[in-house]
Amino acid sequence: MPDIDSPAKLAVFPNGELAGNNDIYTKHLADMTGVYRDSAAYDAAVAEHGGEELVYRVESQSYGPHSGALTIGTSTLLPGRYGDEFAVTRGHLHAVSDRAELYYCLSGRGVMLLETIDGRSEAVELTPGEAVNVPGEWVHRSVNVSDEPFVTLFTYATDAGQDYQLIADAHGMKSLIVADGEGGWTVRENPEHTGYRKA
Ligand code: MN
Repeated sequence: MPDIDSPAKLAVFPNGELAGNNDIYTKHLADMTGVYRDSAAYDAAVAEHGGEELVYRVESQSYGPHSGALTIGTSTLLPGRYGDEFAVTRGHLHAVSDRAELYYCLSGRGVMLLETIDGRSEAVELTPGEAVNVPGEWVHRSVNVSDEPFVTLFTYATDAGQDYQLIADAHGMKSLIVADGEGGWTVRENPEHTGYRKA
């Protein structure tokens, strides 16, 4: 990733475009193995289009790994349903776990699912103009509960890093965000969740 060593201007668009980015990554459906609890529904979705469809895209700008530097970016999570579970990002705890993060909703409607190692779980719905200040020590994931892209602007200290394995080892997050059967969403306990074990 190229270093930026002087103040840089960004332009942030509601569709997730970030002019001035120096990194982009994408996730496709086939990359989400093991993320959804209804594996039959997930496998069927993969079989339908070969798993090549885009599920989310992240554009970001970082000044580099220096202590105190910020990573600023956009996350665009496309809508989807796997069984009654809404489309999610993989989710993570920061590798430097006390690092906080801001998420500000640019468009769409979604939920930030936030959990602690010791079992607290909170679901914060975001609509455009709303933000959540995620404290350090909270596992976090985006969930799209609408039928249009859920786009957020985020920023965190670059040296935070990401630990994705924590959620996989726990067989998913403690809570699932699922359809409530009336066009909305609700929280359901994930019966397979084994609790988090921080490395
Ligand atoms: Mn994060």
